[in-house]
Amino acid sequence: MYLYQYNGKIIDFSVLFLQPSFSAATMSLLPILEFPDPRLRTVAEPVTVFNDELRQLIKDMFETMYDAPGIGLAATQINVHQRIITIDTSEEKNDPLVVINPQVEILTDETEKQQEGCLSVPGYYEDVVRPTNIRLTAQDEHGKEYSIEADDLLAICVQHEIDHLEGKLFVDYLSPLKRNRIRSKLDKLHRQKV
Ligand SMILES: [Zn+2]
Repeated sequence: MYLYQYNGKIIDFSVLFLQPSFSAATMSLLPILEFPDPRLRTVAEPVTVFNDELRQLIKDMFETMYDAPGIGLAATQINVHQRIITIDTSEEKNDPLVVINPQVEILTDETEKQQEGCLSVPGYYEDVVRPTNIRLTAQDEHGKEYSIEADDLLAICVQHEIDHLEGKLFVDYLSPLKRNRIRSKLDKLHRQKV
């Protein structure tokens, strides 16, 4: 998810297939899948092994997210179909949150309409209605379970990213007309890049 102006960067899909296995020493920027890529519809599997490879992947996800720039990234968006999310909603970009195998409990009947954007739907911002207060229970990069209450931007971001793990995108909340308009514009953009 991001709330910043799209910076017009060209994403090269071919790089995806050349990505080397994650090495411990380096960080790399990972290519981000863009709507309507069907791989974004994959339902992610739970993480069961918490090893160095996972922690390297998480480092690369943060690097990719900060570079985009975005405030949240789900592994689905980089074509890794495991239940892993990176988030940092702080202004200083110094408050990284690792969210693995998340579960959310809605704590309020209140909902709020907020403009959302997504690194996988570059250039588009639309209003989405979501509950404003949640409890997030998840594991960190070492498998340690934690539970936090979240509201405002963090609550929205967590729900947006968990949607990705279910193969869902924020454009799914829009009218078919709006969604199809975005789809055809991005399709056209992708064709121009090839
Ligand atoms: Zn997103």
